Amino acid sequence: MVRTSGFSASKKKDCPRCGSFYEFRMVRLPIKDSGSYDCLVCGHRLDTWNDTKFPSYRLVRLEPWPKPKRV
Ligand SMILES: [Zn+2]
Repeated sequence: MVRTSGFSASKKKDCPRCGSFYEFRMVRLPIKDSGSYDCLVCGHRLDTWNDTKFPSYRLVRLEPWPKPKRV
């Protein structure tokens, strides 16, 4: 079910710290804005922007955090 109809395709990103998996797509704003997005799981800063477009993130796969210790 892949449709390309003017929307930017969603891209994928995984958190380098905990490995949780995100999809995001760029959203256009009428004015320049700045902000940031932190990983919902571990709080790692995933992205910052200062532009008329920003990434809208969606958590796809949640990793347990903190990582369970292996004995
Ligand atoms: Zn994370």
